[in-house]
Amino acid sequence: MSHATADRYAWIEPGVEDLGGGVHRIPLPLPLDGLKAVNVYAIADPDGVDLIDAGIALVPAREQLAAGLRQIGYELGDVRNFFVTHIHIDHYSLAVELRKTFHSVISLGEGERANLVATREMVDGRGNRFFGIDGLRRLGALQLATELSAQHRQPPALVDWEDPDRWLADGTDLDLRTRTLRAVHTPGHTRGHLVYHDAAAQLMFAGDHVLPHITPSIGFEPAGNRMALSDYLGSLARTLALPDARLLPAHGPVAGSTHERVHELLAHHDTRLAETLAAVQAGHATAFEAAKAIKWTRRHREFADLDLFSQVMSVNETAAHLEVLAMRGQVTHSVSAEGTDLYQVAPAG
Ligand SMILES: [Zn+2]
Repeated sequence: MSHATADRYAWIEPGVEDLGGGVHRIPLPLPLDGLKAVNVYAIADPDGVDLIDAGIALVPAREQLAAGLRQIGYELGDVRNFFVTHIHIDHYSLAVELRKTFHSVISLGEGERANLVATREMVDGRGNRFFGIDGLRRLGALQLATELSAQHRQPPALVDWEDPDRWLADGTDLDLRTRTLRAVHTPGHTRGHLVYHDAAAQLMFAGDHVLPHITPSIGFEPAGNRMALSDYLGSLARTLALPDARLLPAHGPVAGSTHERVHELLAHHDTRLAETLAAVQAGHATAFEAAKAIKWTRRHREFADLDLFSQVMSVNETAAHLEVLAMRGQVTHSVSAEGTDLYQVAPAG
């Protein structure tokens, strides 16, 4: 591993990072393809501790959380609250498991209700799988469906997708003993994503809304959201309208300025929108065809060189950008007889 690579992943090392003011970052391991760890943030006072996000419901994560809390003088039973940023398994599921034993209180954004319902349907085999046949047909990527079904992907953890104790509305102020956090609705990554903003201490617990090293995936959620990118760009603008704060992300190291990273993410999507428009101008009419014409990841890789899961995510990202171009009137949208979304350059004028 080169030095630069080692530094890039220093944040995943087990342990506790003291951020001052009773706030600690505790990275927990993940068995997922691209993401190596998820940060849980502990906000401690003499009587107990509140956590932002919870990790995945697997034994290594649970043990590392217990070890991290012990290091700062607490046990799992001292956790009063889990303030979860969104419904994804690496953020929510360990909270549900620990609640069975310790009766801590779980809070989640009310916009995630639809995703929780859709997740249960998916687990029971009643609803659409992520990117089921219909979804991939719409994206013009049916051939990926065949490859996906051959892979038999298992969920990484067995999870009881139970409701939280509390659904948080946008703008709710959470009165912790040492500080007040405001829950801010930031849809895009998922439709009900929340960030927790401590304006007084200039801290942003950003979940997966703003990540320092990678571009958050957009609308990868069981309930689906065709407007995910448009929502996301709105949420980035909303974040800029809040006072700047240290960025405390769910994946990656703590960074000095949330605003600085938001500007980079906005620039990234501007570039990607231009590339997507160029692909349509070159005659690529579906999300799948356009995705194949675009270079991916920071290393500018060919679509064909991505693994299957990344290909599906890339087609989904491309569809999200096509929807924004259509909304802005730069491309027109129609649906083929087979149910595939088709895009064309909008006539001038
Ligand atoms: Zn995550």
